[in-house]
Amino acid sequence: MAVETQPQPQPTHEHEPITRDRLFIGGEWVEPHSSGTFEVVDSTTEQVIGTVPAGDAEDIDWAVAAARPAFEQWSQVPPHELAERAQEIAELVAREVGMPLNLSLMIQAGLPAMDFSSMPGAVEEIAWEEQVGNSLIVREPVGVVGCITPWNYPLHQICAKAGPALAAGCSVIVKPSEVTPLTSFILAEIVEELGLPAGVFNLVTGDGPTVGEAIAGHDGIDMVSFTGSTRAGRRVSEVASSTVKRVALELGGKSPNIILDDADLQAAVADGIQKCYLNSGQTCSALTRMLVPREKLEAAEQIAAAVVEHVRLGDPLAEGTSLGPLVSDAQRERVRGYIRTGKEEGAKLVAGGDEAPEGLDRGYFVRPTVFSGVRPDMTIAQEEIFGPVLTIMPYDDEDDAIRIANDTIYGLAGGVWSGDPEHAKRVARRIRTGQVEINGATFNPVAPFGGYKQSGHGRELGKFGLEEFLEVKSLQL
Ligand code: NAD
Repeated sequence: MAVETQPQPQPTHEHEPITRDRLFIGGEWVEPHSSGTFEVVDSTTEQVIGTVPAGDAEDIDWAVAAARPAFEQWSQVPPHELAERAQEIAELVAREVGMPLNLSLMIQAGLPAMDFSSMPGAVEEIAWEEQVGNSLIVREPVGVVGCITPWNYPLHQICAKAGPALAAGCSVIVKPSEVTPLTSFILAEIVEELGLPAGVFNLVTGDGPTVGEAIAGHDGIDMVSFTGSTRAGRRVSEVASSTVKRVALELGGKSPNIILDDADLQAAVADGIQKCYLNSGQTCSALTRMLVPREKLEAAEQIAAAVVEHVRLGDPLAEGTSLGPLVSDAQRERVRGYIRTGKEEGAKLVAGGDEAPEGLDRGYFVRPTVFSGVRPDMTIAQEEIFGPVLTIMPYDDEDDAIRIANDTIYGLAGGVWSGDPEHAKRVARRIRTGQVEINGATFNPVAPFGGYKQSGHGRELGKFGLEEFLEVKSLQL
């Protein structure tokens, strides 16, 4: 995932305002139908750093008219164009979302390039034609795809849809989150420079109820691929049902991390905290529920408190910062509200809290927080918090651990720690989630990613991500 870049000057928050006043439709930068705009805010300084158009349903009609004739042309975006702009992408996301710059460079800029670079290999793995008895089975692009994405990994989530959709031969209409839209314009510029056929890639910014629902309900769009909250995903499904279009949903999570009795507790707790706090906890697959044997609860708390002592909360552009702010004021208030609820419901506060962190009176910061003694019926054990808040939950035996792990509406990710990898695998198979990492194993950008239960349906990334955008046809011979 390494991205090669030249040495860069130390980035600062002082920049010219970024004004994006056009949408990218049919291969051109066009004026939006209406004159409304959305402001983009730096999560550290709380200052407006740019504006983007507030598109509307007419813009979607226009994008569909451009995308329909374009979809039969096969194409893809070479990843090195994204790598060349990695520093710019990483800085923008560090400012918008708040992820520390070194991580942003690796993840927020590195993963999008990978989403595209993995596609030629995935294309090779698909059985485009196969014979079944007297039938020739062929796979074809699904058509025009609407891509609706959230704010936490803004460019990756777009590329995880646009990369495979374009590789499948589809055309796309991208609607990024109105909170973090700036990097999607960089992608559109790259598409423009490459001279892809007009209409293959279209960008319409705007909010969910206006532009998102126009996509979901449009009868000229064959599929909607949505990543975001379970609440908005339900609504997208509802609206899309009027046209019976294909719907892929990547939604929220409340992922368990089971530390088995035979695990290295120190390593497991330390890694688990990192996996919970990645991107300030604004990660759908964050391991937010740490399950530990009841007799080891106190030891786990002590390790967690010591690890949190070393978390460096601060400016994501400053060297040495390990935890940045949350994306917005609304998100900060939501997370602080959950911390208060945790205390009210009787969970034990081991570290952090809802008070503003010292010395950071500007920026949407929340103190890295750990609760222990959390029961499965507590709000903070059930609801997605999307902030740096870990809940440690005791269990009595392995069956109890698995029961607690599976006891939420979600099923996105999970972790298991054990001294015996075979033991860990047996437990992992009983967890009802789309991914499970064993002993802190690293993220695999070509392994299928997606949810069970109310974390959604469909899979992204690699060969499985490409298959999402294909129809299957049989020709009887
Ligand atoms: P959100 O649901 O508020 O917004 C996501 C996108 O949906 C945005 O582009 C938004 O404008 C749009 N939207 C909102 N309401 C809509 C509607 N009625 N119709 C159509 N579109 C609508 O989510 P968010 O706050 O941007 O992101 C955080 C959520 O995303 C979390 O719940 C997180 O778990 C989830 N997420 C999931 C994954 C995954 O792969 N499973 C990845 C990242 C984030």
